[in-house]
Amino acid sequence: MERRVIIAITNQKGGVGKTTTSINVASAIALMGKKVLLIDMDPQAHSTISTVPNPEKYAKSLYDVLMHKGEKIEDTIVRSNIPGLDMAITRISMAKLEPSLAGEFDAHFRLKDALEQIRGKYQYVFIDTPPTLGLITLNALVAANYILIPIQSSYLCLEGTDDLLETIEKVKRIANPHLKVLGVLITLYDSRTNLARDVVKRIRGVFGNKVLKTFISKSVKLEEAPAYKESIFTYAPGSIGAEQYRKVAEEIMSRAKN
Ligand code: ADP
Ligand code: MG
Repeated sequence: MERRVIIAITNQKGGVGKTTTSINVASAIALMGKKVLLIDMDPQAHSTISTVPNPEKYAKSLYDVLMHKGEKIEDTIVRSNIPGLDMAITRISMAKLEPSLAGEFDAHFRLKDALEQIRGKYQYVFIDTPPTLGLITLNALVAANYILIPIQSSYLCLEGTDDLLETIEKVKRIANPHLKVLGVLITLYDSRTNLARDVVKRIRGVFGNKVLKTFISKSVKLEEAPAYKESIFTYAPGSIGAEQYRKVAEEIMSRAKN
């Protein structure tokens, strides 16, 4: 099997489209016939709830695996409602992880170690992260080989970017020298406003050619799909959101090869 691509979808701002992007990009790549896993690291469990029917019926979730070394990550992986997409599920108990792990010498390496257990099983692994730069997000950045940064097209979109870039540099220096910024995805874009065009210019000013060519527009269909535990590709296959996320998935696959 070719090298496993592990992509953390991270921005410590909430509401920028991390979860929407995780689900739809992972779904697009699964539809292309690749073996894809989405890991939900956010204690709010939005990815889990938006893709898995009755997630509470499963005995184990990521908290157990990251907290206790004897547990198997495979026991948290379930088939989602989305064709071809496996999910490593989480639940609110994950909120206990950071206080419980603090001070453990390998606290930042728990997810990386867990992923060793399933080496060879997936070609693409996506990690949806919480809106913080705490221990959970650090676990994702240590385990990943790439980071994809969704940025909401809005006036204050670049607030906090310095902290994120500093965190990435720190992770590279101390724990994961191979981590690369795969791309920056502009989300919730509204092409009708002058502000949106100005915002794109500012984002390009900071990230240059890291900014993906495809933007994700504001779309009601993208907002609705999770309520039905569907990706945009089954919920509204002919929609602009489906077309844009398909193109984003292609850009990601092509960048991850280089
Ligand atoms: P995050 O995971 O970064 O907090 P979400 O993906 O959960 O962000 O998105 C935040 C909210 O915005 C959700 O209600 C989601 O359905 C909605 N949303 C995300 N992307 C779009 C979009 N392109 N168009 C319309 N609504 C969107
Ligand atoms: Mg989210």
